[in-house]
Amino acid sequence: MTKACRLCKVLTNESTCPVCKGSELSEDYLGFVIILDPKKSQLANKMSIKEAGQYALKIR
Ligand SMILES: [Zn+2]
Repeated sequence: MTKACRLCKVLTNESTCPVCKGSELSEDYLGFVIILDPKKSQLANKMSIKEAGQYALKIR
């Protein structure tokens, strides 16, 4: 089951976040975006995303 990190919103199948190493993961999220190149993405900039990957749009 894919989970979303509450801190940086990245989606992961691991039990800890691969980006911020946090363990606050939630299965309760809405929608996701795939960021391929954070430096060229306005959305990534807006969401403060610095690593490529899949990110939840909203975590409840
Ligand atoms: Zn994280």
